[in-house]
Amino acid sequence: MPINIEINDKIAIITVDNPPVNALSQAVRKGLWEAVERLDADDAVSLVLLRCAGRTFIAGGDVTEFDKAPVEPHLPDVVGRIERAKKPWIAAIHGTALGGGLEVAMGCAWRVADEAASLGLPEVSLGVIPGAGGTVRTPRLIGIKAAIALVTGGKPVKAAEAVRLGLIDEVLSGDFQSQAIAFAKRTLSASRPGAVSDKRIEESFVTNWTKIEKEVEKSAKGAHAPVRALACLRKAATASADEAVAYERETFLDLRNSNQAKALRHVFFAERAALKPEDLQGVFPKPVKTAGVVGGGTMGAGIAAAMRDAGINVVLQERDAQALAAGMARIESIFSASVKRGRLSADEAAVRMAGVSGTTDVADFSEADLVVEAVFEDLDVKRAVFAGLAESCRKDAILATNTSYLNPEDIFAQLPNPDRGIGLHFFSPANIMKLLEIVPTRATAPDTLAAGFALAKSLRKVPVRSGICDGFIGNRILKVTRAQAEKLLLTGVSPAEIDAALKDYGLPMGPFAAQDLGGLDIAAFQRKAARARGETVFAPIADRLVADNRLGQKTGGGWYDYQDGSRHPMPSNIVAGIVAEIRNEQGRAELPDGVSLADAVLLPMVNEGARILDEGIAASATDIDLVKIHGYGHPRWRGGLMYDAQQGGLSAAVGKIRRLFEAGLAEAPSEHLIAAAEAGRF
Ligand code: NAD
Repeated sequence: MPINIEINDKIAIITVDNPPVNALSQAVRKGLWEAVERLDADDAVSLVLLRCAGRTFIAGGDVTEFDKAPVEPHLPDVVGRIERAKKPWIAAIHGTALGGGLEVAMGCAWRVADEAASLGLPEVSLGVIPGAGGTVRTPRLIGIKAAIALVTGGKPVKAAEAVRLGLIDEVLSGDFQSQAIAFAKRTLSASRPGAVSDKRIEESFVTNWTKIEKEVEKSAKGAHAPVRALACLRKAATASADEAVAYERETFLDLRNSNQAKALRHVFFAERAALKPEDLQGVFPKPVKTAGVVGGGTMGAGIAAAMRDAGINVVLQERDAQALAAGMARIESIFSASVKRGRLSADEAAVRMAGVSGTTDVADFSEADLVVEAVFEDLDVKRAVFAGLAESCRKDAILATNTSYLNPEDIFAQLPNPDRGIGLHFFSPANIMKLLEIVPTRATAPDTLAAGFALAKSLRKVPVRSGICDGFIGNRILKVTRAQAEKLLLTGVSPAEIDAALKDYGLPMGPFAAQDLGGLDIAAFQRKAARARGETVFAPIADRLVADNRLGQKTGGGWYDYQDGSRHPMPSNIVAGIVAEIRNEQGRAELPDGVSLADAVLLPMVNEGARILDEGIAASATDIDLVKIHGYGHPRWRGGLMYDAQQGGLSAAVGKIRRLFEAGLAEAPSEHLIAAAEAGRF
């Protein structure tokens, strides 16, 4: 039974026991409903303490019910029943109380939490809103301003903040379960507070809803749920609780079936599955307690910081004392930036930094469980590094390369035991970006591969396995993005128009602004290598910009002009002139009717994704979705590049790609894409 009840000295203790996270399955909802009925009728009971077994309070809804029709008893009714119970309830929260879990707690007369607990209403991240009175009770408890932040932002708060807001009554320290019982005993003689639903909302903040709506819409970046959640809060602030509950339910049910919610559920399940590859079930890698990082440049410093954020000790190695000092300073500045943003206390930053020891000697890697190499992108330099690592590391240490474009098999070719070699491709900034492409070679052992996935989990990253090809999954598609954007300039549209079209689609930045931010030199270097291999790469305009030392923001100009160190892109007459010249040389192209600028960039990327699937570089279209979302800012609410194309209809996509091909603006649709269109799915 997921619900156990024990009665002692007038206090009924309900323990929800529904492993692993006490989700609100139908059985739990029914059990809670029946508990109210039973305890209300029991004269021996004056007070009810609701708590959970295991590692957490009710962590949220039951994910296995997400895609199914709602079944009774519905959560809003259960929470309402608890709120109106004759015997008052106390929620004792440890671990996390998210979504429906927090809504249940808000139906209780009192809420207490463990010091380490976190509480929140993250429903918007799944494209819905709190659907069991969350938008109605939260503003009544904590005021409308704090409720707007909690509900539309979806970010949880820690117990200390929750008590400050008024979301809970007390934070308990010491052994939580016994402290919760002690709280219940103290509360036996307390008078019952009025039901949360009956409270009036403090309205002083509610002055300019239109302004707040604009702010929420802006930060939602195309996602509907935060905006709809705000509408519910507005209703809660201006109508009766009953009316607001009805409006919330209607909004919830409407959003639940929306395309965005479906896309967000797709991503949610994809992320969960990504951490547990089926072929690695039962393979248990050794935990990583100490990691080595070779190279303290942009990536090495970010990787070291990410490791420290996960509690892993780091040995950072550089080629000489000066480079080492620069690398250590880079790591330090990552932590101090977090302190400035209020994400980390100064003390914690000092602890993180203290866990990094710097060296110029590879012999200091003797304790490391795993070493990540992040030196210059040069095969000989990397091979020399691994020769040194093979000598100085433990024989069972995992040896990883962060190469972006080189073949890890070439890098590990001279390793005496290449079964422990693997590509771990982080994205910049490595302490922030969630994607980790995991690139096994033919020699990589299963436990080495499993160690890559386990590391991703401990770094709270999203791992995606990639086969070996130029650029792996993500950067291979990125090359197509850039080439397409550049080809479109031949139709006479400006970089700003193309960037705007992709921002409208939901990307945080258009392809030209992104190149200016990252710098045009790295891609130019890769084009040179690709051409040396005999590949043709379309980049006549980018090549000209690089030749003219227009490398992006860092040189004051790239695809745009940047005046006086500003980061604000301004249209560039120089670029317009270069584009005009190249158009004269190459001939003008016409965007086919019915194909938008965004289509002309995104659909050829989908076509490349289909080739990647065909070659087995990515195991599934879903993996490509995760790469785009977590490595390149593809809007989560679109479900990813491939998912979105599939929702839009793959036959239509093939038709548009064909027309782009005929206009000289894209490659022909791949066999794999055509076959997927016939099947209706990837
Ligand atoms: P970087 O130039 O910023 O840093 C390289 C560092 O390696 C330098 O500090 C250098 O002193 C050090 N180094 C060079 N040779 C060394 C040696 N033999 N021993 C110890 N240290 C040595 O380069 P980066 O941007 O950090 O890139 C590093 C690697 O990560 C490259 O393989 C790159 O392709 C890859 N990568 C880069 C990005 C990115 O966005 N910058 C993203 C993913 C992967």
